[in-house]
Amino acid sequence: MSDPQKVVLVDMDGVMADFDSAALAAIPESMIVPRTEFYVAQDYPLQVRPSIESTYNAPGFFETLEPMPGLLDAWRVMLAHGYHPRVASAPLSSNKTSIAGKMRWLERIMVPEFGLSVVEDAVFDKHKWQYKGLVLIDDRPYVPRGENGEDVAMWEHILFGWQHLAEVSSATTSLRLRSWSDTTSLLTLLQRVEQSKA
Ligand SMILES: [Mg+2]
Repeated sequence: MSDPQKVVLVDMDGVMADFDSAALAAIPESMIVPRTEFYVAQDYPLQVRPSIESTYNAPGFFETLEPMPGLLDAWRVMLAHGYHPRVASAPLSSNKTSIAGKMRWLERIMVPEFGLSVVEDAVFDKHKWQYKGLVLIDDRPYVPRGENGEDVAMWEHILFGWQHLAEVSSATTSLRLRSWSDTTSLLTLLQRVEQSKA
């Protein structure tokens, strides 16, 4: 593994892969609302939650997701600037095929251009604080930095997405990247964190 100060840990659901659009496929378009809750089903009335949950818990769900706009270009930009993007994704415990599906997704979307190392380097673990890196790019507003209140994470969290919100409630970081299309902000954030740790 390369210099941990150059490693960019990258979450999958809602960051690399468009989880929400696929999870909401069974919901009429007129009912779709801007996301305010981290767990997408919680933005919907109780009656429709089971249909959302059964969609994302279906075998094979993860391998079908669309890549987030600008992902491949942003991955290229990170590599070209000497960073080492590395997948860091938590399994979805309610979907037993989630890890296999995520690996197949990486094989389909990322491996053709970036090679097998994207899958070989990927970690599937909810304890993201255990992995070394400069930053973790994740759409979860609060990412634990250790167990039982300890702070052992090496990385700084960059909150991804939530483009429609000026402020994300419960966010525990002030670093934000609203989309992969903004590679200028991406590089600025990475360089700023690097300088703060130098
Ligand atoms: Mg996510």
